[in-house]
Amino acid sequence: MAKMNKIAMNKLEEILNELNKTPGIIGSAIIKKDGEIIVKQMPKYVDDEFVDILSTIHGCIEQVLSKSDDIAPKEVIIRGKYRNTIITNIGDVILMIISDLKANLNDILKIADSLAEDIKDCCNILSEDVLIPTNLIFSNVERGDLGRDVDVSIFRILRFMNLRKYTGIDSETLMYYFGKELSKNLKFSNFEELCKFYKKYKLGRIEMISENPIKIRIYDCISCSGLPDVGKPLCHFEAGFLAGYIENIYNKEAEAIETHCWGLGDKFCQFEIRLVDK
Ligand SMILES: [Zn+2]
Repeated sequence: MAKMNKIAMNKLEEILNELNKTPGIIGSAIIKKDGEIIVKQMPKYVDDEFVDILSTIHGCIEQVLSKSDDIAPKEVIIRGKYRNTIITNIGDVILMIISDLKANLNDILKIADSLAEDIKDCCNILSEDVLIPTNLIFSNVERGDLGRDVDVSIFRILRFMNLRKYTGIDSETLMYYFGKELSKNLKFSNFEELCKFYKKYKLGRIEMISENPIKIRIYDCISCSGLPDVGKPLCHFEAGFLAGYIENIYNKEAEAIETHCWGLGDKFCQFEIRLVDK
């Protein structure tokens, strides 16, 4: 984590700040599993070395116990003479909380649980070195009278650029993963939310054709609608986007292929998405 994203760091500081206002909580920290402290709001007597030792102990326990899924620890609680230390697993990091003895441990664990998603999101931004988080791209458009709309052909030019020339990777593959990453970040919880998003951002009109096998159709697709028959499907971004949506819904890996497209001579796009067993 050489270059820390300021937005994600501020958000993590804010999370700990709020957490520490909970009665009984004395301090908290978010630490990488190798012991590197990401953020820490602890009383002075809890020094970095102490945090490092505790996270190492936790790492060892986890490593040993996680060999069997049913005993992998979700949290480790150390009950001291004056303080309790609660260490919870949150994806690739741990949240460490120091509380006084009167604090209700169950309440603390519940709060930690409720913060997990936000902490994970921020840590992903930090570890993947994301320039600007997706939600901020959507919420921060200020272009005066020009508004939010851009002509669709500009999007298509970017979309169909020959990226292989510069990156060595097909645009098709890049666009597929780009779409997948985006929909996974957007975390739609049902098809209706996905439809609303499509409508709001004028990406096309989307329709579920069948649920088993999963077939989804898009009319007036932003990528291909009106383009000539080139003998190939064109909407890899959309395919990835739908695969990411299905992955979130089923919590399983998914693959999408485009079976109908303006690029194949059809007047709509249709995708078949299947779940892949890992
Ligand atoms: Zn298409």
